[in-house]
Amino acid sequence: MTDPAHSTLDILSEAKIIVIKIGSVLVRGSELDQVNQSWLDALAQDVKALQDQGKKVVIVSSGGIALGRKALGISPNTAPDKIPLAQKQAASAVGQFHVFHGYHDAFEKLDIITAQVLLTVGDTENWRMNLNARETLYTLLERNIIPVINENDTVSTGEIRFGDNDRLAVRVGQMILADAVVLLSTIDGLFTSDPQKDPQAKHIPVIDQITEEHIKMGGDATAGLSTGGMKSKITAAISAIKSGIHLIITDGRPSHALKDLCEHAEKRSSIFISQYCDLSARQKWLGAHMQPKGVITIDDGAIQALHKGKSLLPVGVKSVDGDFKRGDPVEIRDGLGNRIAMGISAYSAEDANRLKGKQSREIPDILGFAGRDVLVHRNDMVLEV
Ligand code: GLU
Repeated sequence: MTDPAHSTLDILSEAKIIVIKIGSVLVRGSELDQVNQSWLDALAQDVKALQDQGKKVVIVSSGGIALGRKALGISPNTAPDKIPLAQKQAASAVGQFHVFHGYHDAFEKLDIITAQVLLTVGDTENWRMNLNARETLYTLLERNIIPVINENDTVSTGEIRFGDNDRLAVRVGQMILADAVVLLSTIDGLFTSDPQKDPQAKHIPVIDQITEEHIKMGGDATAGLSTGGMKSKITAAISAIKSGIHLIITDGRPSHALKDLCEHAEKRSSIFISQYCDLSARQKWLGAHMQPKGVITIDDGAIQALHKGKSLLPVGVKSVDGDFKRGDPVEIRDGLGNRIAMGISAYSAEDANRLKGKQSREIPDILGFAGRDVLVHRNDMVLEV
C-alpha cells in the first residue's frame, strides 16, 4: 500500500505546475472587510519557496463576496446561497479589490509581481477563448508573475456561474495542464462522516478511486462564507482526476499550511490520485464542459462504434437538438438521455438535421457541398467513463 503522507510529498515535489485554491474563510481576517494579511504574507513566502524550486504556481482565490458583505449590509451569518444574486455581484465588486490588494501586498514584499485574472464560465467553454486565457496565464508564468484568479462574479449570471472556486480551480488546472490542484480549506480532507458531528469519523488520506460511498461522504457547504463544502470538492476531484490532475485537500488555516503540506509528512490531507490520462488538451477541455450548445441522440449501433474508437457518422444519428454552429461542443446521448460523449460538431445543427440517418456518401448531394464524412470526429470526442 502507498504510504499516504509520502505520496502527497512525492506528488508535490514532482509537480511542475500547481494550482492553489484559497477559500474565503482563509482570506478574510477578523475584521469583516479586511484581509488576513499576516496569513497571506506567510502564504506568499510558501509560494516563493515553490517558485524557487522551479515550479509554476497559480492562485485561485475566493473572498470577493465575503469581503464586500459589510459594505452591502449583508449579515455575516447569511449563507451565500441566501444572498440575492445582485447583492452578491455588488459585494464582489467591492470585495475583489481588497482580495487582490492583499495578495499584491504580500507578494510585493518578496519582489514578486501579481496579476489579477477574472474568468467567467464562458471564457473557458469556448475553445478559442480557453486557448487565449491559457496563453495569457503561460505568458505570466514564464515571467514568474503570480496569477491571482477569481470568477468574474459581477458579470456571471446565475445559470452560468462556476459558483464555487473548487470547480474553477480544476478548470484552470485543465486549462494550463497542471499536475496538481491544492484546495486550502477549513478541513484537512475527506472523512467517513462529518467530524464536527461524529467523533467516530475517520480521516481518509488517499483516494485511489472515487466511489459512490465517497460521494455520499461529502456533505453540503456549512452556513457562513463558503460556497463549496465537501460535495463541491468531490465534484471537482472527479473532474480533476479524469484529466490526469491530482487533487489535494488540506486545512489551510494554520500559518504556512502550504509549506507544511509540501515538507512535512505529518500534515494531514486527503489526496485524490489522478487516473492515467492520454487525452489531448482539447479532449480534456471537452470532457469538463458545462454548457454544450446542442444534443445529438444516437442509435445503439453508433454507441457500439463509438466505444470501439470510431467517429460518429450521420447514419447513426436519431435526432439533433439545439442551435449550434460548426465547431461548437455538443453532447452525444443515447435514446434514454444518458450522456455517452462530448464532441465537437463538424456541421451546424441545421446541416446535422438534414444529414441525420443518411449515408456519408450522400452528404454532397444533400448539402450541396462536400464536407467531412463524419459528424463528430474521433479526435474531437471524449467518451464518458
Ligand atoms: N467567487 C466567489 C468570491 O470571490 C467565491 C466562490 C467560492 O466561495 O468558492 O466570493
